[in-house]
Amino acid sequence: MSILVYINSNGNKIAKNSFEAVTYAKKLGDVTAVTNGKADNAILADLGKYGASKVLVDRSFDGTDEQQITRMVATAAEKVGAETVVFSDDLVGKAVAPRLSVKMNAGLISSATGVPQGDGTVPVNVFSGKAFAFVKANTSKKIISLLPNSIPVEEVGGSASIEEFNGNAGDTRVRVKGINRPEGDIPLPEAELVVSAGRGLKGPENWGMIEDLAKALGAATACSRPVADADWRPHHEHVGQTGVAIRPNLYIAIGISGAIQHLAGVNGSKTIVVINTDKEAPFFKAADYGVVGDAFEVVPKLVEAVKKFKASN
Ligand SMILES: Cc1cc2nc3c(=O)[nH]c(=O)nc-3n(C[C@H](O)[C@H](O)[C@H](O)COP(=O)(O)OP(=O)(O)OC[C@H]3O[C@@H](n4cnc5c(N)ncnc54)[C@H](O)[C@@H]3O)c2cc1C
Repeated sequence: MSILVYINSNGNKIAKNSFEAVTYAKKLGDVTAVTNGKADNAILADLGKYGASKVLVDRSFDGTDEQQITRMVATAAEKVGAETVVFSDDLVGKAVAPRLSVKMNAGLISSATGVPQGDGTVPVNVFSGKAFAFVKANTSKKIISLLPNSIPVEEVGGSASIEEFNGNAGDTRVRVKGINRPEGDIPLPEAELVVSAGRGLKGPENWGMIEDLAKALGAATACSRPVADADWRPHHEHVGQTGVAIRPNLYIAIGISGAIQHLAGVNGSKTIVVINTDKEAPFFKAADYGVVGDAFEVVPKLVEAVKKFKASN
């Protein structure tokens, strides 16, 4: 079966969720990747490691304009006779996959968390991660958008061939005047480990210990919404229903109550550790491990313990 997977290689970098999408596509059939922009051939050829045999690249336009990308992916799908097109369910995937489904007359399955079962039904995440459903597309062509961090990236070896092509992307009515990228070593949506804190920290001056813990663990930092609203932390760190949705391997929530709107963005985390003074805090119900205690006592001890462990291992 011919599978096409869209790769966001903007900024000459391929994000982990694109490698996940290739890994996923490889489980369905023969994979061709499609992208646009100016990424180095060596970087694109790396997609072969995860199972793409070829990369189609349209060098005629840069950026993530969803209308141009929709046209380009539709052209590529036609060219390779793709039966299924796979996206990562990130910002670009969320915008392009529905447009493409109309253009290709293909059934769209979004927020997939696993591969299709024998009868073609795909597990998907619903109600902000509170439940899952099995969805089947009865169309001959299908589009699947894969929720980031749903499956581990798998290396299968190999190098993809690169073919430049004209994706008929056309013009764009959108003018990008500048791009502000969040600073920080580890982008939050890609982080495997996240240390997060809430209003229990009392003020921005107390975030030093949160950063120390994140640094000791090699984790990204996050926060609850009121913390970002009060400008204690930047808005790109706010996780939850109205913030970034994350699914790290470890989420440490410090001084966060665990309101449903916060949980909606983090309850896909593999392991949740909660530190809170209030043993009745709702977050403990969602936690795998909990510490009932004062963050100002517990966190510095945790930092010390992590550093000691790392030094002796
Ligand atoms: C439409 C809508 C959308 C929303 N979207 C989001 C969202 O995306 N993300 C989000 O986070 N919120 C969101 N909210 C807000 C959400 O409902 C909660 O108000 C918010 O998550 C609470 O933040 P918090 O837990 O940091 O603060 P609080 O509710 O004030 O909780 C602070 C916690 O810290 C504990 N604490 C206090 N002192 C200490 C200490 N010394 N050590 C340890 N623990 C301590 C307390 O026991 C308490 O549990 C949304 C709300 C609405 C209405």
